[in-house]
Amino acid sequence: MNETRKVALVTGSGKGIGRAVAIELARRGASVAVNYSRSEEAARETAEAIRSEGGDCGLFRADVSSALEVRALFEAVRDSLGPVSILVNNAGITRDGLLMRMKDEDWREVLSLNLEGAFLCSREGLRDMTRARWGRIINISSVVGIIGNPGQANYCASKAGLLGLTKSIAREYGMRGITANAVAPGWIETDMTAALKPEIREAMLKSVPAGRPGRPEDVAAVVAFLASEEASYVNGQTIAVDGGMTMV
Ligand code: NAP
Repeated sequence: MNETRKVALVTGSGKGIGRAVAIELARRGASVAVNYSRSEEAARETAEAIRSEGGDCGLFRADVSSALEVRALFEAVRDSLGPVSILVNNAGITRDGLLMRMKDEDWREVLSLNLEGAFLCSREGLRDMTRARWGRIINISSVVGIIGNPGQANYCASKAGLLGLTKSIAREYGMRGITANAVAPGWIETDMTAALKPEIREAMLKSVPAGRPGRPEDVAAVVAFLASEEASYVNGQTIAVDGGMTMV
């Protein structure tokens, strides 16, 4: 363990936005805990990308919707990299469907990972951060958590819930050198959005002043800023990274 490095845990960082965040934080000098639940091969590629640039990281399998696995995850990260001081709650899933036909399990699964997973990791991470009197929690929400979206009541509720969680952490721990902020991506090209039908992509493109979908790296740059020393007076905020889609 290197005493001068900050340790960053990025949940769900085998691919997509999480991978870009993990790579960017490692570039800026953090030791990164790359977490995955199923995509081991992808997580290895993330670790490979970090190490090929001279960065430091470790691979950690855990389902972050499970309290037991989250506790074990933080213990494993502490043992091999050190206490977590930057936590990026990125792991997320969709189970879309119109509300009247939405299955109980689709509601619960989405809330359990997207919202409860962030609560479980934040609770665990705050133990390390309060001890160090320094910490950064960045929750990956979504623009649809602010404006809603038909067919995504479960997902939107989870992403809106993250905003309340973020602001409460900001108020509870602001005095201890800890900040909590949310990033609300718009449409970012990842596996999550790869299955969108061409007509929906066309319509979405019209609603983005930037005229293009976002890249995972667009989100990672903002997360890295919020994780930095320079962002110490930014607390409880929601930063949209959406090419101007919402402007709320
Ligand atoms: P993605 O490529 O599908 O990645 C989702 C990540 O979540 C994967 O790394 C996955 O890892 C992880 N994950 C899923 N279940 C998990 C669990 N139980 N425990 C730990 N990790 C788990 O999607 P993405 O677009 O990068 O999404 C990343 C975050 O950004 C999500 O929170 C998403 O809601 C949010 N977001 C995305 C967009 C967009 O347009 N793409 C827009 C707004 C917000 P495994 O495969 O190993 O399970």
